[in-house]
Amino acid sequence: MFGWFGKRDAKAEPIDEGLWESASFPYLFMRGLPAADDARLRELAGRFLARKHFSGTHDLDITPFMRVQVAAQASILVLELGLEWYDGWSEIIVYPGQFAPEREIVDEAGVVHLVNDAMAGEAWLGGPVILSYEDVAMTSDEDARVAGYNVVIHEFAHKLDMLNGDPNGLPPLHAGMPLGAWRKAFTEAYGDFRRRVDEADRQAEEDDGAALDALPVDPYAAESPGEFFAVVSEAFFETPERLEPAYPAVYAQLKQFYRQDPLARLADSGA
Ligand SMILES: [Zn+2]
Repeated sequence: MFGWFGKRDAKAEPIDEGLWESASFPYLFMRGLPAADDARLRELAGRFLARKHFSGTHDLDITPFMRVQVAAQASILVLELGLEWYDGWSEIIVYPGQFAPEREIVDEAGVVHLVNDAMAGEAWLGGPVILSYEDVAMTSDEDARVAGYNVVIHEFAHKLDMLNGDPNGLPPLHAGMPLGAWRKAFTEAYGDFRRRVDEADRQAEEDDGAALDALPVDPYAAESPGEFFAVVSEAFFETPERLEPAYPAVYAQLKQFYRQDPLARLADSGA
């Protein structure tokens, strides 16, 4: 299904070296990336830009710099998989900041509630990826970012998860990746993480959230198995040095799935 001949020759938008460096290098996932991989990522990002269409809301002007920022981050997930993993949709909608779409939620008692929670990003099944540019930019700012938080990697991980239906934390696995090993690693880690978040929540009043801050990944991962997969994907690329010691089996599965080893890159480069 994937990788038919000729895809490699699909149109690409050339990305100027200076623009590439200024837009991509500040992100944590770029640490230790060997020069040859960096060149492949730049080329992949150029093809990503040729295939996806960006639009801004609220008169947000989408600059070449912003497009390359998003393309670099989206492309790191599929560096060893191929852009075909993002086929079937093309729109990237960028809000200036967080957005709060009004939506109906049905609770366990069947009661419909109207909610409008602020969101940094959203991925639709078969539809667009929506991003808050403020969050995209903040993640590249050494002084402002929360290490391990990356809204672009998060939403594009959901897109991979959606290749086989609703995002449930189980993307299509490669041949040779037993389903049982994936399930065991993720189910155990998710259960453990939920317990840790509950415990940290209980302590929060006394320790001012210190236990929450000390968690190996964003507590939002405790929301659902689908969110857990997206959040550990952020950590896999951005802060593998925190994810691997906490959940080595999950790290090992992600390494097989993404066909990358960000922790080894850090060790090899001394970054
Ligand atoms: Zn999510």
